[in-house]
This record gives sequence, C-alpha cells and structure tokens, in this order.
Amino acid sequence: MHSGFKSFELMEFNSIIVRLSGEIGIKGDWTRRAYERRLLKNIVDALSHYDVPYEKIVRKCGRIYLKTHSAMEASLKLARVFGISSLSPALETTSKLNDIVEGSLSLATQTLQRGNTFAVRCRRVGHHPYTSADVCREVGRQILTAFPHLDLKVNLRSPDVSLGIEVRDESAFAFTKILGGTGGFPLGTQPRVVCLLSGGIDSPVASWLAMKRGCPITPIYFDNSPFTDDATTERALNVAKVLFEWAIGFPRKVYVVPHGGLMEIVEGGPKRLTCILCKRMMYRIAERIADMERAEGIVTGESIGEQASQTLRNLRVLSEAATRYPIHRPLLGLDKMEIEKMARKIETYQVSIQKAKACTAAPSKPATQAKIEEVRKAEEDLHVEGMVKSSLEGLRMVRL
Ligand code: ATP
Ligand code: MG
Repeated sequence: MHSGFKSFELMEFNSIIVRLSGEIGIKGDWTRRAYERRLLKNIVDALSHYDVPYEKIVRKCGRIYLKTHSAMEASLKLARVFGISSLSPALETTSKLNDIVEGSLSLATQTLQRGNTFAVRCRRVGHHPYTSADVCREVGRQILTAFPHLDLKVNLRSPDVSLGIEVRDESAFAFTKILGGTGGFPLGTQPRVVCLLSGGIDSPVASWLAMKRGCPITPIYFDNSPFTDDATTERALNVAKVLFEWAIGFPRKVYVVPHGGLMEIVEGGPKRLTCILCKRMMYRIAERIADMERAEGIVTGESIGEQASQTLRNLRVLSEAATRYPIHRPLLGLDKMEIEKMARKIETYQVSIQKAKACTAAPSKPATQAKIEEVRKAEEDLHVEGMVKSSLEGLRMVRL
C-alpha cells in the first residue's frame, strides 16, 4: 500500500463515463437495450464526425465507458448527443485497490487546492476483496497523508471537491467533474417527423424538442416570396444547419417549397383569413411530404395565443386541414421568454434574429376566432388541390 506520497505521476484523463438519461433506465429490458444500442451508434457517429480519436467504447451496467485520451474534447461534443444525462472525464485504472488509490491521488494533485474540503464517494459493481466504504476510507486517508501541506479536511455534506470512484468489475474510474448532458432519448428511437421551419425563433425550438424525444426531423420551409425575400430563405436554411448539429449521423436535408398559392389566397380570399388559409395550405403540403418521408407527424412552432392565428380556436381550424397526420405543437404551453431561453441554449437564437423580411401578406386585422364553415367556404373559391400540386411540383430538396 502506498503511503506518504511525495510526488505522483500526473496521469491524464484516459476515459469518459457517460451516464444515460434516467428515463432510459426505467424502460423494459428489450427497449432499454435498443435505446442503448442507438445511443452507442450516435456517440460513435458524433466522435467520427468531429474527428475525436478513441480506442474503445463499451456499454456496461447502464453506463457507457469511452476510452479516449481526448476526454475533455469528447465530453464537450457528446454533451450535445440526446440520451445522455451527464458525463465525467475520468482516470481509468484496474480495480486493484492500489491502482485506485494511485489514480485518485493523481487526480487529487491536479484538483485539490490549499484549504479545500473534500469527499470521496464510491460505487461498486462486481466481486472485489473490498467494499465501497473501504475504498472511500482508504483513498480519503491516503489523500490526507499525501498532502499535509494543503491543510485539507473531509466534508461529506458539501465538499469543495467531490472525488467520485466507480468500480466496474476489473476497471475503476476516478473523476471530479460532472458535465451536464442534454437528456432526452437517443435520436432515432422514435419515428421521423416533418417540421414546419420558418427560421423564426419558435419553430426551431419546437423541432429541437421533437428531436430531444428521439424523433429525427425533416424540416420544411415555405418560400413565401414575393411576400418574403431571399434573406428569409437563407435564414431558415442557416437555422436548419444549427439544428443538424444536434443530429450528427442523420440526413441533413430540408425541403424548400414554393408557396405560390399564397398569391391566390391574398388576391382571392377574405383578407382577415389570409394567415389561416396560408397555414392550412402548409399543413396539406406537409402531409404529402410526410408521406414521402414516412414520417409519423407534423411539428410546428405554434404556442397558444402567440399570434392571431394561434388562438385556441384558430389552432383548431388549422388542424382541421390536416386529415391524415397529427399536428404536434411542442411549444403549446410555453411563454415567449421560455422559448427564447431555449433558443439561446440550442444556439438557433442568433441565427433566428438575423434580418429577414417579415411576410407582407399578413393582414393588419387578422381573424382571431375564425369559423370553420367560413374558412371552408373561402377555400371553395380557391384552387386548393391545384395549389398543393404546383407547390409539390416546385419542391426543392436542399442538402446542408
Ligand atoms: P416562428 O417564430 O416559428 O417563425 P411565428 O411565431 O412567427 O413562428 P407564425 O408565422 O404564425 O408564427 O407561424 C406559426 C408556425 O407555422 C411556425 O412556428 C412554423 O412552424 C410554421 N410556419 C410559419 N411560416 C412558415 C414558413 N414560411 N415555412 C415553414 N413553416 C412556417
Ligand atoms: Mg411564434
């Protein structure tokens, strides 16, 4: 047993402990294994996408352990992979108590400062000649002996530094940092959804929330020119690029749809219903694209009362146009401030606020309580099927 260490080999982090979202752990065996396998694949894809080298990755006891000498860099990249609750760059040693102590002392040298309080916490799975309490006691004792000049104290309640040790069969991992992950389910564990992505602040957040629950996304952008301009399209594509950074390993394609029918709506429909008629056309076209993409639903960035077209009544009138797919509105109950906060976190905000022309087709006095009968009647005077057809004919698929 080591005692009275004077100098220690400064071992570098050589692995990462990846902790899975708690919700994965409570799934039944079959589902949990499928989710873990998907997460493993998404992690491997992210690492190779960013050229982060690693030697080995294993799934064990509800965790994923990654052997890499780029532990810090890898942790930062993986913090964006859905399905991970937290990560710790760690020092992996064998599970021999001597080695655990040596690794812990090396980590302690790099972390502890004069006057710090510390705690050692250990979790153990497997057969070993010691208990977790033995590990905590021995490592704690050796740290106190090794650094008399640092005036350290043990504090189990709220220590300055918490030294974690995970013993897993023949391996042990020592760590002091716990980096937050994004949570959610691994992307691809739920079916695909198509997302109406305007490029504004809301719809990217809605798309991201669907991804967070495991749905790969296919963004659809309606090009409302001449009521909007190229900058509006550019902004939407740039937002999609940011979203795809959360979906490494998945196709990066966006559908750009010419919304030529909007001109007919503006010229031939009742002014106060313009936005409702326009959105209903978007939903209809989105259904056709959902067919092509084998998607299970349509996601929008609507939230109750956020715009005239988003009163509860109008949302009902909008939904009535989608006959074959559900409209999912992940932002339904969120305030603008909450949406903006999320947009900042997922890094779409900066792109969404870039200058772009707001749609000039929007009337000054839009209906807030549209009646389904009047909307249907207005549509009778328009060439609804023709508009869908011509939009689909002009459909452009952009790979980003
Ligand atoms: P956002 O902030 O997402 O731009 P908004 O608050 O400006 O939306 P609306 O313009 O009423 O509100 O749009 C409601 C939803 O309809 C959007 O969140 C988006 O899902 C969809 N949408 C609106 N315009 C477009 C567009 N040009 N292309 C694709 N989807 C759109
Ligand atoms: Mg909005």
